Amino acid sequence: MRLKDKVALITGSAQGIGREIALVFARAGADVVISDINLEKAAKTSAEIEALGVKSLALELDVTAYTKVEEAINKILDKFGKVDILVNNAGITKDGLMLRMSEADWDAVINVNLKGTFNCTKAVARPMIKQRSGRIINIASIIGIIGNPGQANYSASKAGIIALTKTSAKELASRNINVNAVAPGYIQTEMTARLPEELKQKMLSLIPLNKLGMPADVAAACLFLASDESSYITGQTIVVDGGMVTA
Ligand code: NAP
Repeated sequence: MRLKDKVALITGSAQGIGREIALVFARAGADVVISDINLEKAAKTSAEIEALGVKSLALELDVTAYTKVEEAINKILDKFGKVDILVNNAGITKDGLMLRMSEADWDAVINVNLKGTFNCTKAVARPMIKQRSGRIINIASIIGIIGNPGQANYSASKAGIIALTKTSAKELASRNINVNAVAPGYIQTEMTARLPEELKQKMLSLIPLNKLGMPADVAAACLFLASDESSYITGQTIVVDGGMVTA
């Protein structure tokens, strides 16, 4: 029960990695707010969380709209009285080689992944500063460290998240708020299930541990960063990738 009596907000948590983080946090005793652009899906995951014996709230939240994010934080404060942990997990891809990438695809990915992380961090920082405590965990990607052809928008957004993590850690440290990132490699989710078999085999050959990661591997790193055990760690990025990135 490492997160007993804590309240966690996880963005984009109706499915995939965010849902797994939510389940792991709930099993550790946290009350968990499931937020996603699709309320129906969020409500389903929220019911799964409540079945674990903790409280939950499902919120429709598009992280790109700052006023909506503020409204969501206020709803959480009304119901729970505080917010201890934020996981900025909502993320999208719109891949294409740079010369063919449309302005709309560039903007969409930067807006959800990078601006969404900024919006939620800014909105949650106020109550966390008042509380004099908080944990913010940003889901980046190894693509933000090593780059990837066809992912100019995604790689830039994730590199931006790593830099934003460092800056927010420095700005919020004096208020006892830790900000860290987790950079997953190739994780078995709907995002990677769509990839052609040939590409999956190529990816496997690049992973020293010779297997794709599971959402639970990412969730375990998040649990550590949300728990008291990591209280002296801030501004860092933990890479969870089976050994692909070693520098
Ligand atoms: P996913 O299954 O697509 O889940 C992402 C969730 O975010 C979806 O429910 C999605 O809703 C939601 N979402 C999309 N736009 C949103 C918005 N504007 N506001 C709020 N929620 C929004 O993806 P995942 O694989 O679990 O990835 C989760 C995070 O891990 C992302 O940040 C991703 O970049 C990162 N990551 C994943 C991998 C991987 O291998 N899977 C590797 C490295 C990093 P819809 O489905 O309705 O769009």
